[in-house]
Amino acid sequence: MKCYNSIARMKMSTTKDKSTNSIIRTRFAPSPTGFLHIGGLRTALYSYALAKHNVGDFILRIEDTDQKRQVEGATEALKIVLEKFGLSWDEYFVQSERQASGIYKSAAEKLVESGHAFYCNCDPKNAKEQGYSNQLRDPCRDKNNSKGAIKLKVVDGESISFFDFVHAKEIEWETDTVYDATLLKSDGFPTYHLAVVVDDLDMDITHVLRGHDWLPSTPIHLLVYKFLGENVPKIGHLTDILSSETGKKLSKRRDSVFVEDFIKLGYLPEALLNFVMLLGWAPKDNQELYSLEEFVKVFDKDGFQDANPVFNADKLDWFNCQYIKELSIEEVVKQIKFQNIDFEKAEKDVQVEIAKLVQERIHTFSEFNALAGFFFNEPKVDTSLFGENYKKHLSVAKEVIEKLDKWDLDELNTALMERIKKHEFKVGDFFMTLRIAITGSKSTPPINESMIILEKEKTLERLKKVS
Ligand SMILES: [Zn+2]
Repeated sequence: MKCYNSIARMKMSTTKDKSTNSIIRTRFAPSPTGFLHIGGLRTALYSYALAKHNVGDFILRIEDTDQKRQVEGATEALKIVLEKFGLSWDEYFVQSERQASGIYKSAAEKLVESGHAFYCNCDPKNAKEQGYSNQLRDPCRDKNNSKGAIKLKVVDGESISFFDFVHAKEIEWETDTVYDATLLKSDGFPTYHLAVVVDDLDMDITHVLRGHDWLPSTPIHLLVYKFLGENVPKIGHLTDILSSETGKKLSKRRDSVFVEDFIKLGYLPEALLNFVMLLGWAPKDNQELYSLEEFVKVFDKDGFQDANPVFNADKLDWFNCQYIKELSIEEVVKQIKFQNIDFEKAEKDVQVEIAKLVQERIHTFSEFNALAGFFFNEPKVDTSLFGENYKKHLSVAKEVIEKLDKWDLDELNTALMERIKKHEFKVGDFFMTLRIAITGSKSTPPINESMIILEKEKTLERLKKVS
């Protein structure tokens, strides 16, 4: 079945008759200016799912024509991150390479010839120093200049609209409010407005998903699509993701927004992706856990939500917890090794024992050192944490442990419980004393299991230190 689909797809992709080309083709078109924003990951995911649900093509297009904003190595980093999430692309394009072929310049010239654009010789304005221009109509519109930058000639008195497939509604503008946007700069480089439209048409993109902040430029793009080709892609604007703290749109200045940072903090790509799936899209039932494959299967445009989703960090932790529980113990060991160099040096069976203890208890692997660092580093014990009777608890524990023949969990348990009963200690209080003495903390993995891993000698050493 799969084979049949891909053959059908190849035939469709190569046909030039667009009327029969019903295959869905989406694109993710980032500028390589740094790290991947959580909103960018969501755009890529939804574009991927929309294409793949319909056995279509997902295209990665690097929009790097703004040379001033380039960051060295950013394109490679971006590809690595997308691959980490399984968002693999069928086709790959780089705008700067396409720019060299003259494709954007000739499209702009074609618009001049057809009367939809004109050459402008005005001095380029520096928006930073002079403020953004609020002039809608350029003085060069009717001058018939033969060189300079190329600008869009917007006709007055018309209306332009499109059906937004994310919000399922028609959005309309009067052209009187749309400005004569620059398409080709005087240095021959295309602006975003031109490059994006030329590429979408040339690549037969059928559905465009983009951030809500691009909505003001949509009427410009709609005009350029219309003037350059017949098949305007369907467009959808994704909701803004809001910060749970400020209630405002996530901001890279205020909030953690970069995918790479979440991964460094110990979030699993599968968990982060699952969390992102439900930021603006909801299934028909209440299912929450989806692999990428499952998501592609159920994804449909009707699931897009109108309201702006809130980035709930606790929910992300919950997802990560679910995925950590599902990992094999080898994978847990591997993840902890990234967090703790002493763990990496430990014996393999010790690694496995520790991994088993923490797997059910951590939300992210970055919590490992706080939760289980005591296995490798002697803790500083704050004696004010101890409750009453702690000296008695400690002396009984030392005595029991010293006498124990076999260093075994059952033996340790039984021996300690016997003495707790005999002295009429409160069970919870007794073990809390041990916990604090051995780990320096009140919340840790189960203390008896931890002592077994630490070994008898080290356990006694720590108990003696605080007695
Ligand atoms: Zn001008």
